[in-house]
Amino acid sequence: MTTAQVVNPATEEVVARVDLVGEAETDAAIERAQWAGVTWREVAPGERARMLRRFGDVVDAHLEELAQLEVANSGHTIGNARWEAGNVRDLLHYAAGIPERLLGNQIPVAGGVDITFHEPLGVVGIIVPWNFPMPIAAWGFAPALAAGNTVVLKPAELTPLTAIRLGELALEAGLPEHVFQVLPGKGSVVGHRFVTHPAVRKVVFTGSTEIGTQIMAGCAQQVKRVTLELGGKSANIVFADSDLERAAATAPYGVFDNAGQDCCARSRILVQRSVFDKFLELLEPAVRGVKVGDPTQESTEMGPLISGAHRERVAGFIEASTKIAFTGEQPNGPGFWYPPTVVLPDSPTDRVLTEEVFGPVVAVLPFEDEADAIRIANDTEYGLSGSIWTNDVGRALRVSRAVEAGNLSVNSHSSVRYWTPFGGFKQSGLGRELGPDAALAFTETKNVFIATQ
Ligand code: NAD
Repeated sequence: MTTAQVVNPATEEVVARVDLVGEAETDAAIERAQWAGVTWREVAPGERARMLRRFGDVVDAHLEELAQLEVANSGHTIGNARWEAGNVRDLLHYAAGIPERLLGNQIPVAGGVDITFHEPLGVVGIIVPWNFPMPIAAWGFAPALAAGNTVVLKPAELTPLTAIRLGELALEAGLPEHVFQVLPGKGSVVGHRFVTHPAVRKVVFTGSTEIGTQIMAGCAQQVKRVTLELGGKSANIVFADSDLERAAATAPYGVFDNAGQDCCARSRILVQRSVFDKFLELLEPAVRGVKVGDPTQESTEMGPLISGAHRERVAGFIEASTKIAFTGEQPNGPGFWYPPTVVLPDSPTDRVLTEEVFGPVVAVLPFEDEADAIRIANDTEYGLSGSIWTNDVGRALRVSRAVEAGNLSVNSHSSVRYWTPFGGFKQSGLGRELGPDAALAFTETKNVFIATQ
């Protein structure tokens, strides 16, 4: 069996060695999930709800342990890691409300009764990236399990530890064996098998647009259901009529959270030309003030990047000709550090404006008026999130409707709430996760007509 090392990105120390699952074991796990599904789908809704609630309670009882493990697994700040473990708990408690509320319809027809049912799909394969190992896993598995499916989950190669622990906690909470299995392994082996194995009825993939398009093409061979959550290049639009101090003070948190390794990162700040210089003046102390360093410390706001290779990739976006406005802190010593960096691009084709950096690099550029802001915001193949800063409610609504993105916030950088829908326009994805309809994406709707005459 091949093993992979898990490296703490803040210390560069090996914290664990994990056995990687191969193709034959993946097939065996999928077949076990298929068998487990025969009984899981028949578990009474109230009992399935109780099991999910218990799973949430067990996660809550292990919240600090999971958070500390995530700090070592992925270099997340302890504050973020606690939020992430809490998000898994909350999502499981929310999903516990689903089994008893998965309502069908009775549709008026002549000569009989017509009913719709929402039936589970069967085995669901969930493929997770390294940037938010716990929440992204739970966004898939919680509603999928609630709707009566069984789940095989593949964490990212770099960050498997918290997913493995969640698999153990599911058993501790009393979920039947093989209903929720975690399979650490390579994307090209385990993930690929989720796409090609006919017993896997749906693939939920979160990751790069490049791999996402391959997954979609592979799933098309069997008309397999697929949800894709992919990259982003979101705009933070700051109008002259906004509370400029607040917009500038919060802008770093809109992009440097999780060291910019966030699909929702507002990595382009568009500022109305009349306040451009003033905004940059206000932004500078806010960026220099971001506390970068040891993620185990409560006061730390930004940790390291995930790996040395990823740091090289991020650094590759800064060329000799790139105009750097200013940078923030960069700790010394071991760890894959990269400072918060603000750049002023020269041209709309600059790579920092067109490609997802997935690191703490933000481009600031001016716009003239509302139409110009919308044009620039939409000038990307992505469409995941974004922010609009204005004190004019009409403008806030007009611009929100015109920006092609799935998750927008006005005078805020909030993107994710487990009870509101989340997902991308254009090449940022396909389908929606979270929110009141999340479980429906894990069902087939069946219509039955019963003649009464
Ligand atoms: P990635 O695409 O390299 O990998 C994601 C997952 O896919 C990993 O588990 C990997 O092992 C697996 N994989 C790789 N090749 C595969 C294959 N051929 N078949 C099946 N699975 C395969 O992405 P990453 O570098 O881990 O994550 C970063 C990307 O994820 C960024 O682009 C980011 O924007 C995106 N992301 C999107 C969202 C969202 O909700 N839209 C959320 C988080 C991250």
